Amino acid sequence: MDAKIFDYAFFQGEIVPFSEANVSIGTHALQYGTGAFAGVRGYLDADGSTINIVRLPDHAERLLNSAKLLRAELPYAKDDVVRIISELTAKNAPSGDVYIRPFIYKPAVQLTPRLRGIGDEFAVYMMPMGDYLSLERGQKAVVSSWVRIPDAAIPSRGKLTGAYVNSALAKDEAAENGADEAIMMNTAGKIAEGTGCNLFIVRHDKLITAPFSSDILEGMTRRSIIKMAKAAGIEVEVREIDRTELYIADQAFFCGTGVRVAWIESIDGRPIGTGTVGPVTDQLRTLYFDMVRGKLPQYAHWLTQVKIPQVAMAG
Ligand code: PMP
Repeated sequence: MDAKIFDYAFFQGEIVPFSEANVSIGTHALQYGTGAFAGVRGYLDADGSTINIVRLPDHAERLLNSAKLLRAELPYAKDDVVRIISELTAKNAPSGDVYIRPFIYKPAVQLTPRLRGIGDEFAVYMMPMGDYLSLERGQKAVVSSWVRIPDAAIPSRGKLTGAYVNSALAKDEAAENGADEAIMMNTAGKIAEGTGCNLFIVRHDKLITAPFSSDILEGMTRRSIIKMAKAAGIEVEVREIDRTELYIADQAFFCGTGVRVAWIESIDGRPIGTGTVGPVTDQLRTLYFDMVRGKLPQYAHWLTQVKIPQVAMAG
């Protein structure tokens, strides 16, 4: 079933009804995956007047970096992307938490799989969104037989549309095997990440995550978690991780904008730690949710506030 989408989108330089934001079936990006996207979350505050968009300028920067990898030429700088997304959010006047999908793509109907000389477009749509992975229980993860695409084949640090065939293959296989999420290894046999999330393990109270050179996406949530962990006095190690190290980890969790912080109960059928959410994971998950809900003044600068126009109630 299709997700419910908000009424308005940004398309071809303006805000239009989502139903009118359509492309040709011959679109280059559709045929060859020559697009890049971002996944951004906005959280409605307690009185329903403001959406707090998490790390919007950073997402905009990563999107423009991904665009660079595709040699896209766009008339938008980071501030323009932030402004357009803020305006679209206000226009859609959400009454709950939202997921925002900005992306760039090559719109030409053109047969050669190439990057230059065929134009670029920027568009945005958005939808209501709750949990992506269940936060009520631990995740059953499996190490995938699908290897994470190496940066030397398709840049993994950017969020490129075509690269998500890799994620879809691994996610599909995991579901087929009764698991919630897949963990992909890279071509060197080191742990990379999940299909739509980065991965952390905890050993002896130390937080460990793979480096960018392990063919992972430059995740924003990963970056936030590292920062918050260090500030909370948790030791952080960014280094390669072996598959067998997962099995003996004390705790493990996935993180991402969609996923947020989802603790892992088992990997390849082996319980992780005590099979419950561990204390470091619990502490970081609480910090993360407090941060996105605007409860931590020290991280308030990570939130872009968008005022939601209030509809006057008939008295
Ligand atoms: N890795 C992959 C492959 C992803 O799709 C995502 C989701 N964007 C992440 C990691 C997490 O990135 P972020 O924290 O920026 O959402």
